[in-house]
Amino acid sequence: METKSYNPFTTAQLQFDHAADLLELDETTRELLRTPMREHHFTIPVRMDNGAKKIFRGFRIQHNDARGPAKGGVRFHPLETIDTVRALSMWMTWKTAVADIPLGGGKGGVICDPHHLSSSEQEQLCRGWVRQVVRNVGPNVDIPAPDVMTNAQHMLWMLDEYETIMGGHYPGFITGKPVGLGGSLGRKESTGYGTMITVREALNDLDISCGNTIASVQGFGNVARYAIELYHKMGGKVICVASWDNDEQKSYAFRKKDGIKLDELNSIRDVFGGIEKSRAQDLGYEVLKGEKWLEQEVDILVPAALENQITIDNAANVHKRVKIIAEGANGPTTPDADKILDKNDLLIIPDFLANAGGVVCSYFEQVQSNMNYFWEKDEVLGKLDVKMTSAYASVSDFARSNKLNMRDAAYVISIDKVAMACHERGWV
Ligand code: GLU
Repeated sequence: METKSYNPFTTAQLQFDHAADLLELDETTRELLRTPMREHHFTIPVRMDNGAKKIFRGFRIQHNDARGPAKGGVRFHPLETIDTVRALSMWMTWKTAVADIPLGGGKGGVICDPHHLSSSEQEQLCRGWVRQVVRNVGPNVDIPAPDVMTNAQHMLWMLDEYETIMGGHYPGFITGKPVGLGGSLGRKESTGYGTMITVREALNDLDISCGNTIASVQGFGNVARYAIELYHKMGGKVICVASWDNDEQKSYAFRKKDGIKLDELNSIRDVFGGIEKSRAQDLGYEVLKGEKWLEQEVDILVPAALENQITIDNAANVHKRVKIIAEGANGPTTPDADKILDKNDLLIIPDFLANAGGVVCSYFEQVQSNMNYFWEKDEVLGKLDVKMTSAYASVSDFARSNKLNMRDAAYVISIDKVAMACHERGWV
């Protein structure tokens, strides 16, 4: 089979066009929503530790802010492209709409590989990024957050630069900050937990008890680790985890038939979620090459790494036992793979619903930051559960009553909300 290369923005636009057809959306609204409203492209000079200057390329894209300030993470990735950021900003608009929080969609990125940058070089990148977009972001304009290979420390450097320039405290400028410095308890767990809350609801829909299920997960970053944690608490068993080996530039699956142990794998991972192969073998894990995570005989698959992972080349390898695919990552399934999986009667919980927990908790963090009063962890996680359960229920009910799959239903609900906001503001 021929291997295609996928452009995530083409995927996002194809998905949008399909939902716009279902909604019979007018041409002007389509034109407004199928491209971002604003794009900022810039360079960031950094003095490297060896004294040389290096120029990095950065972006911030605001897809739509009709429902509230733009919201979305900043990614650090060597293969970052402008079209990836465009797609991700668009998906953020649908994500905040489906989660029913009063925010729009945005995304940022820097082309860089943090594996090869010192802490001081990363700090300069964060500060440089803020200096370039300071006039175009802010608590009421556009609120950044962590994403692939960025974390609470990066958010704090960005906040500090913003506050230094603005001359005051603006904790609502950014989310995903460290707890104690404007961060919210539960934020680090929220994306992965949110994914598993939607899985719990999907299992209820299918009348399956979680305790009888097994799962395979792609990724061992912030989303995957907490998704596994909650799934284990719910009684499920993860038998396979795939993680990226940055030295070899390929991924490996780590399998234990009687169930992986989170503590064990946590003790042999790096900060980016890479797992040490030889130590895993010592701990009794089978180390498998290729895309084995996807071929496991399990009930649930959780792609929680990057975009374009389930494609026309491998979709047919998904085992027929699989009943649910919960997209913890953004854009893990390409549209042509989607068609294959749809035929197999799989319940796919689409990315911008399945991974909305992060931005929901970011919204809670902003609310807490703005009033300078912070909630207990149980309160945050309780509110997260309420929001995710109701977002899942509205998509699932709409899908059932309109005979749509979950992705189409989620798209129709969120595009309709955003289109309505644009219309009511008089933009279209
Ligand atoms: N980067 C996360 C996402 O893709 C979180 C965004 C946010 O909290 O603003 O949903």
